[in-house]
Amino acid sequence: MGLQTVRAAIAQQPGGENVTLVAVSKQQPDERIRDVLSQGQRVFGENRVQEGAARWTGLRPAYPDLQLHLIGPLQSNKVDDAVALFDVIETVDREKLVVVLAAEMKKKNRFLPCFIQVNTGEEPQKGGVAPGDFAALLQTARAAGLNITGLMCIPPADDLPDMHFALLHKLAKVHGLSHLSMGMSGDYETAIAYGATHVRVGSAIFGDRV
Ligand SMILES: *Cc1c(COP(=O)(O)O)cnc(C)c1O
Repeated sequence: MGLQTVRAAIAQQPGGENVTLVAVSKQQPDERIRDVLSQGQRVFGENRVQEGAARWTGLRPAYPDLQLHLIGPLQSNKVDDAVALFDVIETVDREKLVVVLAAEMKKKNRFLPCFIQVNTGEEPQKGGVAPGDFAALLQTARAAGLNITGLMCIPPADDLPDMHFALLHKLAKVHGLSHLSMGMSGDYETAIAYGATHVRVGSAIFGDRV
Protein backbone atom coordinates (compact mmCIF):
# COMPACT_ATOMS: atom_id res chain seq x y z
CA MET A 1 0.00 0.00 0.00
CA GLY A 2 1.01 3.60 -0.49
CA LEU A 3 1.79 5.87 -3.41
CA GLN A 4 5.11 4.29 -4.35
CA THR A 5 3.67 0.78 -4.30
CA VAL A 6 0.81 1.78 -6.58
CA ARG A 7 3.14 3.65 -8.93
CA ALA A 8 5.44 0.63 -9.12
CA ALA A 9 2.51 -1.72 -9.84
CA ILE A 10 1.33 0.58 -12.65
CA ALA A 11 4.83 0.84 -14.10
CA GLN A 12 5.06 -2.97 -14.26
CA GLN A 13 2.02 -3.27 -16.53
CA PRO A 14 2.63 -3.17 -20.28
CA GLY A 15 1.72 0.37 -21.32
CA GLY A 16 1.82 1.49 -17.69
CA GLU A 17 4.14 4.39 -18.50
CA ASN A 18 1.25 6.06 -20.35
CA VAL A 19 -1.24 5.72 -17.50
CA THR A 20 -2.24 8.73 -15.40
CA LEU A 21 -2.72 7.94 -11.73
CA VAL A 22 -5.66 9.90 -10.33
CA ALA A 23 -5.23 9.82 -6.54
CA VAL A 24 -8.73 9.78 -5.07
CA SER A 25 -8.54 12.07 -2.07
CA LYS A 26 -12.22 12.06 -1.04
CA GLN A 27 -12.80 11.56 2.69
CA GLN A 28 -9.08 11.43 3.42
CA PRO A 29 -7.43 13.43 6.20
CA ASP A 30 -5.41 16.46 5.06
CA GLU A 31 -2.11 15.12 6.41
CA ARG A 32 -2.32 12.11 4.08
CA ILE A 33 -2.95 14.43 1.13
CA ARG A 34 -0.01 16.63 2.07
CA ASP A 35 2.21 13.56 2.34
CA VAL A 36 1.31 12.46 -1.19
CA LEU A 37 1.75 16.03 -2.51
CA SER A 38 5.23 16.06 -0.99
CA GLN A 39 6.01 12.88 -2.97
CA GLY A 40 5.17 14.70 -6.18
CA GLN A 41 1.64 13.47 -6.89
CA ARG A 42 -0.32 16.22 -8.69
CA VAL A 43 -3.44 14.58 -10.14
CA PHE A 44 -6.31 14.09 -7.70
CA GLY A 45 -9.92 13.00 -7.88
CA GLU A 46 -12.84 14.18 -5.76
CA ASN A 47 -16.40 12.88 -5.95
CA ARG A 48 -18.16 15.89 -4.39
CA VAL A 49 -17.90 19.47 -5.57
CA GLN A 50 -18.27 21.08 -2.13
CA GLU A 51 -15.82 18.76 -0.41
CA GLY A 52 -13.35 19.24 -3.25
CA ALA A 53 -13.63 23.02 -3.05
CA ALA A 54 -13.16 23.02 0.72
CA ARG A 55 -10.00 20.96 0.44
CA TRP A 56 -8.33 22.34 -2.65
CA THR A 57 -9.15 26.04 -2.90
CA GLY A 58 -6.61 26.83 -0.18
CA LEU A 59 -3.95 24.34 -1.38
CA ARG A 60 -4.15 25.24 -5.04
CA PRO A 61 -2.00 28.42 -5.04
CA ALA A 62 0.95 26.41 -3.65
CA TYR A 63 0.62 23.77 -6.41
CA PRO A 64 0.03 25.52 -9.74
CA ASP A 65 0.45 22.25 -11.67
CA LEU A 66 -2.34 20.52 -9.74
CA GLN A 67 -4.96 18.70 -11.83
CA LEU A 68 -8.32 18.00 -10.25
CA HIS A 69 -10.75 15.46 -11.69
CA LEU A 70 -14.42 15.36 -10.75
CA ILE A 71 -15.28 11.66 -10.50
CA GLY A 72 -18.67 11.81 -8.75
CA PRO A 73 -22.18 12.68 -9.89
CA LEU A 74 -22.67 16.33 -10.89
CA GLN A 75 -25.94 18.13 -10.20
CA SER A 76 -26.86 21.01 -12.47
CA ASN A 77 -26.91 23.49 -9.58
CA LYS A 78 -23.24 22.68 -8.80
CA VAL A 79 -21.97 23.17 -12.33
CA ASP A 80 -20.86 26.76 -11.67
CA ASP A 81 -18.58 25.68 -8.79
CA ALA A 82 -17.44 22.55 -10.62
CA VAL A 83 -16.28 24.42 -13.72
CA ALA A 84 -14.46 26.94 -11.51
CA LEU A 85 -12.61 24.25 -9.52
CA PHE A 86 -11.97 21.17 -11.66
CA ASP A 87 -9.70 20.57 -14.65
CA VAL A 88 -11.43 17.46 -15.96
CA ILE A 89 -15.09 16.47 -15.54
CA GLU A 90 -15.31 12.67 -15.75
CA THR A 91 -19.00 12.24 -15.10
CA VAL A 92 -20.99 13.77 -17.96
CA ASP A 93 -23.98 11.44 -18.21
CA ARG A 94 -27.14 13.20 -19.41
CA GLU A 95 -28.39 15.79 -21.86
CA LYS A 96 -29.46 18.37 -19.29
CA LEU A 97 -25.97 18.33 -17.78
CA VAL A 98 -24.42 18.71 -21.23
CA VAL A 99 -26.47 21.85 -21.86
CA VAL A 100 -25.71 23.43 -18.47
CA LEU A 101 -21.99 22.56 -18.64
CA ALA A 102 -21.60 23.93 -22.17
CA ALA A 103 -23.25 27.20 -21.15
CA GLU A 104 -21.12 27.55 -18.01
CA MET A 105 -17.87 26.84 -19.87
CA LYS A 106 -18.72 29.51 -22.44
CA LYS A 107 -19.57 31.95 -19.68
CA LYS A 108 -16.28 31.33 -17.88
CA ASN A 109 -14.30 30.85 -21.10
CA ARG A 110 -12.97 27.65 -19.50
CA PHE A 111 -13.36 24.71 -21.87
CA LEU A 112 -12.46 21.69 -19.78
CA PRO A 113 -11.88 18.24 -21.19
CA CYS A 114 -14.79 15.98 -20.25
CA PHE A 115 -15.35 12.23 -20.10
CA ILE A 116 -18.74 10.59 -20.50
CA GLN A 117 -19.59 8.18 -17.70
CA VAL A 118 -21.12 4.95 -19.00
CA ASN A 119 -23.23 2.82 -16.67
CA THR A 120 -21.87 -0.41 -18.10
CA GLY A 121 -23.74 -2.56 -15.59
CA GLU A 122 -27.00 -0.59 -16.10
CA GLU A 123 -27.38 -0.24 -12.32
CA PRO A 124 -30.31 2.04 -11.45
CA GLN A 125 -28.61 3.58 -8.39
CA LYS A 126 -25.47 4.50 -10.33
CA GLY A 127 -24.69 7.50 -12.51
CA GLY A 128 -23.72 7.14 -16.13
CA VAL A 129 -25.52 6.87 -19.43
CA ALA A 130 -26.79 3.42 -20.46
CA PRO A 131 -24.59 1.88 -23.17
CA GLY A 132 -27.52 1.97 -25.61
CA ASP A 133 -27.98 5.73 -25.14
CA PHE A 134 -24.29 6.56 -25.25
CA ALA A 135 -23.90 7.36 -28.96
CA ALA A 136 -26.78 9.87 -28.89
CA LEU A 137 -25.40 11.60 -25.80
CA LEU A 138 -21.94 11.84 -27.35
CA GLN A 139 -23.43 13.46 -30.44
CA THR A 140 -25.40 15.94 -28.31
CA ALA A 141 -22.31 16.78 -26.27
CA ARG A 142 -20.15 17.34 -29.33
CA ALA A 143 -22.84 19.47 -30.96
CA ALA A 144 -23.05 21.57 -27.78
CA GLY A 145 -19.32 22.21 -28.02
CA LEU A 146 -18.17 20.09 -25.08
CA ASN A 147 -14.65 18.74 -25.48
CA ILE A 148 -15.32 15.02 -24.90
CA THR A 149 -11.97 13.25 -24.74
CA GLY A 150 -12.79 9.98 -23.01
CA LEU A 151 -15.03 7.60 -21.12
CA MET A 152 -15.34 6.54 -17.52
CA CYS A 153 -17.04 3.61 -15.78
CA ILE A 154 -17.52 2.09 -12.34
CA PRO A 155 -18.28 -1.63 -12.74
CA PRO A 156 -20.85 -3.25 -10.42
CA ALA A 157 -19.21 -4.20 -7.11
CA ASP A 158 -20.11 -7.88 -7.37
CA ASP A 159 -19.21 -8.49 -11.03
CA LEU A 160 -15.83 -9.36 -12.45
CA PRO A 161 -14.79 -6.02 -13.98
CA ASP A 162 -13.35 -7.53 -17.18
CA MET A 163 -16.44 -7.36 -19.41
CA HIS A 164 -17.16 -3.78 -18.24
CA PHE A 165 -13.62 -2.65 -19.02
CA ALA A 166 -13.78 -4.41 -22.39
CA LEU A 167 -17.08 -2.72 -23.25
CA LEU A 168 -15.75 0.73 -22.33
CA HIS A 169 -12.61 0.11 -24.38
CA LYS A 170 -14.69 -0.89 -27.39
CA LEU A 171 -17.00 2.14 -27.13
CA ALA A 172 -14.01 4.47 -26.94
CA LYS A 173 -12.35 2.86 -29.93
CA VAL A 174 -15.48 2.90 -32.10
CA HIS A 175 -16.08 6.59 -31.34
CA GLY A 176 -12.50 7.80 -31.57
CA LEU A 177 -12.04 8.73 -27.90
CA SER A 178 -8.52 8.44 -26.55
CA HIS A 179 -9.00 8.47 -22.76
CA LEU A 180 -10.36 5.65 -20.62
CA SER A 181 -10.85 6.19 -16.89
CA MET A 182 -11.35 2.80 -15.28
CA GLY A 183 -9.92 0.78 -12.43
CA MET A 184 -9.86 1.50 -8.70
CA SER A 185 -7.81 0.10 -5.78
CA GLY A 186 -9.01 -3.47 -6.31
CA ASP A 187 -8.71 -3.71 -10.07
CA TYR A 188 -6.49 -1.01 -11.56
CA GLU A 189 -3.98 -3.53 -12.90
CA THR A 190 -6.76 -5.37 -14.73
CA ALA A 191 -8.08 -2.06 -16.06
CA ILE A 192 -4.67 -1.19 -17.51
CA ALA A 193 -4.61 -4.55 -19.29
CA TYR A 194 -7.89 -3.44 -20.94
CA GLY A 195 -6.45 -0.12 -22.04
CA ALA A 196 -7.12 2.26 -19.14
CA THR A 197 -5.32 5.58 -19.58
CA HIS A 198 -6.50 6.89 -16.18
CA VAL A 199 -6.88 4.81 -13.01
CA ARG A 200 -8.71 6.24 -9.99
CA VAL A 201 -7.07 4.89 -6.86
CA GLY A 202 -7.98 5.94 -3.32
CA SER A 203 -7.59 3.49 -0.45
CA ALA A 204 -4.59 1.65 -1.93
CA ILE A 205 -2.68 4.94 -1.80
CA PHE A 206 -4.05 6.60 1.32
CA GLY A 207 -5.48 3.79 3.43
CA ASP A 208 -9.11 3.43 4.42
CA ARG A 209 -11.31 6.53 4.20
CA VAL A 210 -12.23 8.09 7.53
C1 LIG B 1 -14.02 6.42 -4.27
C2 LIG B 1 -13.86 6.26 -5.72
C3 LIG B 1 -12.71 5.66 -6.26
C4 LIG B 1 -11.56 5.11 -5.42
O1 LIG B 1 -11.94 3.95 -4.78
P1 LIG B 1 -10.83 3.06 -4.01
O2 LIG B 1 -11.46 1.71 -3.96
O3 LIG B 1 -10.61 3.68 -2.68
O4 LIG B 1 -9.60 3.06 -4.85
C5 LIG B 1 -12.62 5.56 -7.64
N1 LIG B 1 -13.60 6.03 -8.44
C6 LIG B 1 -14.70 6.62 -7.96
C7 LIG B 1 -15.74 7.11 -8.90
C8 LIG B 1 -14.88 6.74 -6.58
O5 LIG B 1 -16.00 7.33 -6.12
